[in-house]
Amino acid sequence: MSGVLAYIGLGSNLQDPVDQVARALTALADLPETRCVARSALYASPPMGPQDQPDYINAVACLSTALAPRDLLASLQAIERAHGRVRNGTRWGPRTLDLDILLYGGRQIHEPGLSVPHPGIPERPFVVHPLAEIAPRDLVLPGHGPLALLLSRCPQGDLRRLEPVPA
Ligand code: ATP
Ligand code: MG
Ligand code: MG
Repeated sequence: MSGVLAYIGLGSNLQDPVDQVARALTALADLPETRCVARSALYASPPMGPQDQPDYINAVACLSTALAPRDLLASLQAIERAHGRVRNGTRWGPRTLDLDILLYGGRQIHEPGLSVPHPGIPERPFVVHPLAEIAPRDLVLPGHGPLALLLSRCPQGDLRRLEPVPA
């Protein structure tokens, strides 16, 4: 299967976030015309935006997919819904699961409802650091330059890398 490398950002801070993210990683690998090439460790960090919500668990996965960008987005939103994601209108409010397309190959997409690369990447340690764990440092993010540059400009701050739980 020939595929494009797409990087997906995962996040959760409700209803057992570690389990939410772990199950979502499995769901991503099970998408049609898709396989999971790599997945980062889990990371924990304080919330972005409203502070009166639990800490987040985040990870990044690298998929090889033949799904077109819109089909991939629809698939991610279906997984979010299956995890009980409710959008209550609060920007960056608490959620069971958030799945964002960070990168889709070298594509730049600026359409209503789909921006790729995801515009929040550079200032989000919980994206840049797990991404750097699984992607080459010379990976160029269209419009942003190489990953190494983003990494040098994005201190880890309160982000904590969680050690894998022994089986
Ligand atoms: P942020 O996008 O800043 O991380 P969020 O993930 O909490 O915030 P959502 O409520 O999950 O935001 O999504 C809002 C809208 O963002 C969705 O309806 C979707 O169409 C749009 N969107 C635009 N670009 C992307 C992308 N690259 N990945 C996922 N959703 C995107
Ligand atoms: Mg998001
Ligand atoms: Mg989202």
